[in-house]
Amino acid sequence: MQITESRPPKYTVPAGLNTYVHTRVITGQQGKKQRRQLTRSERASARLRTKQTLQNLALEIGANELAGKVDRCHSKISVVTCGKHIEQVIPDYTCGFRLCPDCGRRRASRLLREYLPAVVAFPSLSNTQAVHLVLTQAQRRETLSEAVKRITKNFKTLRRRTFWKEHFKGGLFSVEFTIGKGGLYHAHLHILAFRRRFFDVQILKDIWFEITGDSSNLRLDRINGDDIVSGLREVLKYAVKPASIGDFKADHLIDFIAMKGQRMFGAFGEFQRFARTYEPAENDVSLMSVSEHKIGSACSHCGEALFDLRIQGKDLPEFIKRLESSAVIRT
Ligand SMILES: [Zn+2]
Ligand SMILES: [Zn+2]
Repeated sequence: MQITESRPPKYTVPAGLNTYVHTRVITGQQGKKQRRQLTRSERASARLRTKQTLQNLALEIGANELAGKVDRCHSKISVVTCGKHIEQVIPDYTCGFRLCPDCGRRRASRLLREYLPAVVAFPSLSNTQAVHLVLTQAQRRETLSEAVKRITKNFKTLRRRTFWKEHFKGGLFSVEFTIGKGGLYHAHLHILAFRRRFFDVQILKDIWFEITGDSSNLRLDRINGDDIVSGLREVLKYAVKPASIGDFKADHLIDFIAMKGQRMFGAFGEFQRFARTYEPAENDVSLMSVSEHKIGSACSHCGEALFDLRIQGKDLPEFIKRLESSAVIRT
């Protein structure tokens, strides 16, 4: 394995090498807020486009079976609606492919239901503070599998350090990767971690540089109690949508398929043990906001009776658009 760029000086962002990290991970947060939020119908259209791109790429590399599965996924759906709001979309078939945006959404809501109660309960029970930690590494000429292995292995090393154990009680992580100029992979870890006590972030940067040998770029943001749900969503976002398909070339899809089975998401430390056994009280409010809705019950937005409508997946954006123009719909 060859390092394609010279080692960056400590604690500075060298031109070129980590521009992505700087613009997106370090300063990107402010920029993100200024961007207009897409409407629900626009997001549904974007998912259809992404699936078309995926299918084209799959055909290009001869993965005809995969292309067929993605094509069938969510092609026929039942929409559970009150006529003004959509409570649920039930597909006849799901492809389960990790890059499929429709399957990604389903996976996100499943993971949210699985982890939300524990994530909400853990800070006060363990006397910790939730933080969002982003760890990065410099690009190398390596396969995607190697890039992901390298960052997850380094994170494992970090978790064994005394400093880490003294300051964190576990959490959840997901791997995000993007494709930089020149086709190299940028891998990052998004971590929802539970911090025992405050520390100077420079110490963590020093340790991370020592472990990775090429990166001291990391970001640590405190998550306020009320924002814990969005903090969890943020980490899950990358667990279910690891890359922008728009940047994919055929080789990237081949690389991604080669990663089959490699972990891109997981829980660790004391939080992992807690989440495994924690059972929320039945009236836990955090659960109710993400519970499954049933046909025949009342719409959670307006109380009207829900019914299901059979439509083609490709017509979903238009269907949502009609709802959007007739009423304010909530996402
Ligand atoms: Zn799918
Ligand atoms: Zn309604």
